[in-house]
Amino acid sequence: MKNIELPRRVVVGDDAVKQVAEVCKDLGLKKNPLVISDTQTHKVAGKKVAGLLGVESMIIEPSNDFSGILDYIKKKKINFILGVGGGKVIDTAKYTSFLSEIPFLSIPTSAAHDGIASPLVSLKGEKPISVKARSPVVVVADTRIIKKAPHRLLASGCGDAISNYTAVLDWELAHKEKGEYYGDYAAALSMMSAQIVMCCAEKVNSDVSIAVEALISSGVAICIADSSRPCSGSEHLFSHALDIICPNPALHGEQCGVGTIMMAYLHGDDKWLKIRESLKTLGAPTTAEELGIEDKYIIKALTIAHTLRDRYTILGDGLSRKDAVEIAKSTGVIS
Ligand SMILES: [Zn+2]
Repeated sequence: MKNIELPRRVVVGDDAVKQVAEVCKDLGLKKNPLVISDTQTHKVAGKKVAGLLGVESMIIEPSNDFSGILDYIKKKKINFILGVGGGKVIDTAKYTSFLSEIPFLSIPTSAAHDGIASPLVSLKGEKPISVKARSPVVVVADTRIIKKAPHRLLASGCGDAISNYTAVLDWELAHKEKGEYYGDYAAALSMMSAQIVMCCAEKVNSDVSIAVEALISSGVAICIADSSRPCSGSEHLFSHALDIICPNPALHGEQCGVGTIMMAYLHGDDKWLKIRESLKTLGAPTTAEELGIEDKYIIKALTIAHTLRDRYTILGDGLSRKDAVEIAKSTGVIS
């Protein structure tokens, strides 16, 4: 049995943040909110959101220790949390609200990944893992704020959306070969996000709502599948492997984008050329050099990616070093 929980309200557009107080009121969220942001996102939007709700904003440092926030929520009898920021802030708000059993509102200040609307939280440990928490009840994506974020973040978000392409191919494969559950609707929705970003690559830079909507739809696909399957396959395993072995990994979506080029090639699909071209148009990295990662880590990541989680993908039982080199060279990721 699946338990599908979707956001109740999604507000996307210029100045969307101004709607926050009204949206909270509409949904019966009134007393004792907590606004969480970090130093940077506090200036960009956290301060404004807190002002609109007439409360102080809590400024956090990235950490996996949530005990201070959890104590504060209990002590102050907080009723709902608004996470205003990028991945770390959104994840902290999502996870602490889940543990405290109170609603969470997602207010992204950039469009760098699909965690904006998904129920999943990435926790960094020995192996990076994603834990199921709950979906936000509200997503407020202010495109005026998001377009001011560094372009690198937007390009990374597009990489994360495009990576749905191989995630869905891997999901189909696992269904055919291992009898794994496969949801047509979630798969189609996820694939559509990837295709729209690829087709509209030229327009994305001037209209960030394309990327924002693709990432929100990806989060909804995850909600419907009740699993990250529609948006996370072999290309994500490759990115997780880089996070573990690289001294200085690149951004999540940047690594997933490069992973998608190679995994599409491995699927025997000439779409990898279109994927690479779209990433280039978006200004996202397509090579090891552009990722700022040495070739040796790319090869190593390709050979260990299959060990990172129990998820069947095109990587099967793993790639040999020789195969890894061939794939990375043929796709121009390494020269
Ligand atoms: Zn992702």
